[in-house]
Amino acid sequence: MLVDCGVFQGSRALREKNWTAPPFDPASLDAVVLTHAHIVHTGYVPRLAKSGFSGPVFVTPPTAGLLEYLWPDAAHLHEEDARDANRKGYSRHRPALPFFDEKDAGAALRLLHPAAFHERTELAPGLAFTFRRVGHILGAAFVTIETGSTRVVFSGDVGQRNAPILKDPETPSAADHLVLESTYGDRLHPTASPREELGRAVAETVARQGVLLIPAFAVGRAQDVLYHLRSLQREGGIAADLGIYVDSPMAVSAVDLYCGALSEHDVEMAELESAGLCPIDGPSVHLVRDRVESKALNGRTGPMVILSASGMLTGGRILHHLKRRLPDPETMLLFVGFQAAGTLGRRILDGAEEVRIHGETVPVRADVREIPALSAHADQQGLLEWAGRLAAPPQAVYLVHGEAAAREALAGALRSRSGWNVVLPEEGQAIELE
Ligand SMILES: [Zn+2]
Repeated sequence: MLVDCGVFQGSRALREKNWTAPPFDPASLDAVVLTHAHIVHTGYVPRLAKSGFSGPVFVTPPTAGLLEYLWPDAAHLHEEDARDANRKGYSRHRPALPFFDEKDAGAALRLLHPAAFHERTELAPGLAFTFRRVGHILGAAFVTIETGSTRVVFSGDVGQRNAPILKDPETPSAADHLVLESTYGDRLHPTASPREELGRAVAETVARQGVLLIPAFAVGRAQDVLYHLRSLQREGGIAADLGIYVDSPMAVSAVDLYCGALSEHDVEMAELESAGLCPIDGPSVHLVRDRVESKALNGRTGPMVILSASGMLTGGRILHHLKRRLPDPETMLLFVGFQAAGTLGRRILDGAEEVRIHGETVPVRADVREIPALSAHADQQGLLEWAGRLAAPPQAVYLVHGEAAAREALAGALRSRSGWNVVLPEEGQAIELE
């Protein structure tokens, strides 16, 4: 079985790894268990289905809801890439074929088996798993796998406590082996309130009649940012009629799923909802559905807020907004999520003075800022606290899902704080569990 089955994103060298065949026969695989819907955790499943894997794929019910949008959307992008490659002739393969297409996405969706949080699912005699909430995004879980008397916990991506909309992460009570993410293993989020920081960014942009451009992961970040912006509008922190444009079809669909997932809402969200409206929607929020409407935003002047994807500027409608707005010093480009090495987002955040977008050179004169506390990931302290709830030390903690510096910093902190046995596994390394 596999736990998570995603694609590489970031630099070209990383992305090319997606095309390498997996080191096993997909048809021989018995099951896949997915911790949450993000494409870096799920985007390879349709490709597995195309190569002979016939299921089942276990997910929480909200994750199933999100994948119904995410996989067909990814298929559409892959088909577009293949068309581009054929038109411009830059692929080694003729004709270039999509990584997977809409039919493969549909086939993968038919393999989904929703399993409720806290429900123990037996896969085979002596092999069972259970999902528990881990914050991060709608439907996200950590998963405990019991094999014989050994418990292996996979953290998935650990969310922050007290984040908006969703219930707080639960913590594992016991693990013999812990596979832990380390995205922000070398960072501490500032303690300043992210909502206040966001309010200040809006106020500055409004004062200079500019555009606040927020690249956000369509699922998770976009809804959290909307929640904070709408709260500020209700509380009078920013003007109630300031236009907020959500320009990402995926983010728009996810807004509906977030509003509808009553069982996942925290107390504050439920209270706001009892007034009858979804607190991340409202009269100032414009959900931009089609391409024409999206392009029309280029002709508008500020003040306004545009939320668009992709979150790391690797594609999507955010690119045409960047071309239009980056040369303009009145624009504020505000990062609210992780920017991986090799992405356009990381280059701009690191201070690039000009960038290439769709073959054009675009000068960066906009005011570039970041609110790391809005991240969907726990910081080093959060990860230590989350793992620290274990009643007894695990035999080993394996750090995954982080760049080298982040993994090493978290390993150092875990060893010095708890004396735990921390392992930094290499890609492809096999580890025998006792
Ligand atoms: Zn994630």
